[in-house]
Amino acid sequence: MLTLRQLFLNNNAQTTHFPLLLEFERAEGVYIYDADGKAYTDMISGIGVSNLGHSNPKVVQAIKHQVDKYMHLMVYGEYVQTPQVRFAEKLVNILPKTLNSVYFTNSGAEAVEGALKLAKRFTGRQQIVAFHNSYHGSSHGALSVMGNEEFKQAYRPLLPGIKFITLNNLPQLELITEQTACVILETIQGEAGIRVPDAAYMQALRKRCTDVGALLILDEIQAAFGRTGKLFAFEHFDIVPDILLLAKALGGGMPVGAFVAGVDVMAAFKENPILGHITTFGGHPVCCAAGLAALEVLLEENLISTVAEKEAIIRKYLTHPAIRQIRGKGLMLAVEFDSFELNKKIIDTCIENGIITDWFLHCSNAMRLAPPLVISKQQLIDACSIINKAIDFHADTN
Ligand code: PLP
Repeated sequence: MLTLRQLFLNNNAQTTHFPLLLEFERAEGVYIYDADGKAYTDMISGIGVSNLGHSNPKVVQAIKHQVDKYMHLMVYGEYVQTPQVRFAEKLVNILPKTLNSVYFTNSGAEAVEGALKLAKRFTGRQQIVAFHNSYHGSSHGALSVMGNEEFKQAYRPLLPGIKFITLNNLPQLELITEQTACVILETIQGEAGIRVPDAAYMQALRKRCTDVGALLILDEIQAAFGRTGKLFAFEHFDIVPDILLLAKALGGGMPVGAFVAGVDVMAAFKENPILGHITTFGGHPVCCAAGLAALEVLLEENLISTVAEKEAIIRKYLTHPAIRQIRGKGLMLAVEFDSFELNKKIIDTCIENGIITDWFLHCSNAMRLAPPLVISKQQLIDACSIINKAIDFHADTN
């Protein structure tokens, strides 16, 4: 009989020749357990998803409760479904008042697609400005605004009329003009290896968009829901986007995304033609029930207030001389080494020793650290000690 691993390799689509092939049985809190009961500390939260850790009981309960009532009833936006309505209400209540209309999607990439389309419809313009080293997803529109040629060249032709600018480069803001429909930017760039923009730059970007009538789309698919120490990352910069993109932690472990705009902007989808964006499963009732429960736990348990202290612990305990830099904000950090080869060896050893981490799509010499926000101080100190030992084992610092 074939093992699960062999079946996986035979029947499940592969996108690299070197999948991790870890086989897990269950997950709880910050730990994921393999079939032998070995615990791995999830130091990347399934890439920014499991902010509350795994299998939070209130989220699991909300899912079970909703499954017992109903699952899919109708394509998005027709029936009044309690979980969607309550979740949108909660999001609108915690967002600035100009962001008061929520369109739920299946994923982050679909939120990007919807937002780019909305910006074109609302402004009547076609040009889009995006950023070098950005990552917004893997669908055609999202690839078009990705700032890395290597990953998209095989898919051309992509969307036309896209200009790329560099983070923190003030003179390049001139490239945003009265022809620009929108500017799309990750509030804190993730796959670039966690790049935090200057506040002055973000404010100048906001002003430039307002001056020329371009919509500012902030992608917080990785950065929202407390990950950076604020509920939303744009709060660090004292600006508000015209369209906000959410996914990953939004669903508390279930798949859901959203683009949020002003009700006046979102109204552009209602005319000429109607049905400006269509999705069957977007805002699935079970996912919305899970997302609402996750958001309530995040706020009720005051998890965000613990993030700065946890960042400080990582910066205090990860002090190996082979580390070139620790970049980022809150629990969205990149630990940079001299080379990919060294980073990869350290990551492999960490995984062997029960610490799950990885590298970034556009920054292969940096290790990702984005643990669940619920991680305890002691768990963090223990994880740092294992990472330090892995670095020690591989790095030649003499
Ligand atoms: N935007 C950012 C900043 C992301 O990090 C990701 C996924 O990693 C996406 C968009 C795409 O999200 P999804 O994989 O749900 O399509």
